[in-house]
Amino acid sequence: MTQADVSASGDSRVAHDGRREDDGCPILHVDMDAFYASCELRSRPELRGKPVIVGGEGSRGVVTAATYEARKYGVHSAMPMSRAKRLCPQLVVLPPDFELYTAVSAGVMAVFRDITPLVEPLSLDEAFLDVSGSIRRLGPPAVIAEQIRARVHDEQGITCTVGVASTKFVAKLASTQAKPDGLLVVPADRVVAFLHPLPVGALWGVGEKTEEQLTRLGLRTVGDIAHTPVDTLVRALGPAAGQHLAALAWGRDPRGVEVPEGEKSISNEETFPRDVDDPEVIHRELLRLSEKVASRLRRAGVAGRTVSIKVRFADFSTITRSRTLRSHTDVGREVYSTARDLYDALGLQRARLRLVGVKVEGLVEAADATRQMLFDEPELGWREAEQAVDRAEARFGRGSVRPARLVPGPEEPDDHGGFGGIQPTAPRPGRG
Ligand SMILES: [Mg+2]
Repeated sequence: MTQADVSASGDSRVAHDGRREDDGCPILHVDMDAFYASCELRSRPELRGKPVIVGGEGSRGVVTAATYEARKYGVHSAMPMSRAKRLCPQLVVLPPDFELYTAVSAGVMAVFRDITPLVEPLSLDEAFLDVSGSIRRLGPPAVIAEQIRARVHDEQGITCTVGVASTKFVAKLASTQAKPDGLLVVPADRVVAFLHPLPVGALWGVGEKTEEQLTRLGLRTVGDIAHTPVDTLVRALGPAAGQHLAALAWGRDPRGVEVPEGEKSISNEETFPRDVDDPEVIHRELLRLSEKVASRLRRAGVAGRTVSIKVRFADFSTITRSRTLRSHTDVGREVYSTARDLYDALGLQRARLRLVGVKVEGLVEAADATRQMLFDEPELGWREAEQAVDRAEARFGRGSVRPARLVPGPEEPDDHGGFGGIQPTAPRPGRG
C-alpha cells in the first residue's frame, strides 16, 4: 500500500459539509486475517491462493486456522480434521508453530503501541486501540487505521482488518463485517442503523443459550431487542443481562479501552559505555531520559502520575524507586525533578552505576489530565516550552533543539532560557 492510497482513502471520508465519517470514532478493533495460516504463508509463498489450514494431524486433530480459500469449502476452525479433509480433499495441512505466531504477534503489538499506549490485546492477533491522543500527530482514525494496515503488511507480511467506531463493541462488529483485508468505519450517528438489522447473536455476551431465550421471546434482530421494554428483557434474562443487552442494542457501551496492568507505562533507560560514579553525569542522564519519556508521552497524547527510576550497580544488582505526583504530567522538567529527588534520596555517594532508567506510569489521556495541569502554573510554563521543542523537532528533526545548559538545579531559575532560547513563562520546574 502506498502513501497515496492512505491519503486518498482518508480524503474520501470527508462529507460535503466538511465533517468526516470517523469524527468521534477513536476506537479501533484490529484483527489479523486467518492469523496462524497467514504467518505460515509468509515463508511459503507457493501456497498463496490455495486452501491451507493449520491444525493437529492424527485422528483427533482439529483445525486451528483456515485461509479464506479453505473457508470457501466450508472448512472452519475447531472443525475435526477428518471432516475438513472430506470437505476439501486438496487441503494443505500445516502443523502449528506457536513460537512463530508469538513472534509475529509481538511485532504486530509493537506497531499498535507505536500508535498509542492505549492498547487492549484480546488475543495474540487482535486488540482494541484508543487513538484519541494520536489524532493530532497521525491524522483522523480512518487514516490511522490505514497506516496500521500498511505497516502490519509491510513489516509482518500479513493482512489485517480494522473496525473504526465510537465504542468497542461496534468497532469489533465492524471488523467482523469487513474481513478479510478490510476497513470499515461506523459513523457515530449511524450506529443504530448499523446495529438494528444484525441478528441478536452479534451482540457481545449473547451466547447460544441467551440466543435461544431471545428467540423464544420472538426477538431475532438487535432492533427487536431495542424495541422491547427493558422490564421484559430483565424478566427473561435477569437484571444484569437484560439491562446490558438493552443498552448495547442502542449502541451504548461505556467500556473504555483497558490497558492490562503493568503495561501502562512509558520508560527509557541507558546503559553507560562504562560504569559511572559522578552524580553530575547521572543527573544529566536522568534529565535526558526524563525529556525523552515526556516527549513520548506528549506524542502519544497521554500523561502519567507515577515517576520511577531504575538504578543498576556495577555488580548488576538493581533497585527501583517511585513517587506518585499530585497530578498527571507530560512535562520533562517535572519528571526530571522527581527522578532526581528519588536518585538523591538513595544517598549513593560515589557508587558505580551501569545503568539508569526513568519510567512514567499510571497513564491517562492527556485531555483528561489537562484541566488539572492548568492549575499548576509553574508546570504550565515548562509544558509550553517543551511543546515548542516538540514542534521544532517535528520540523527540523529529533535532537535539533537541546537545552543550552543540561543540568540546572531544580530550585534555581534557569535564566539562560534553557530550551534553545525559548523562555518559559514560569521558569521553575518545582512541583509546588
Ligand atoms: Mg483474527
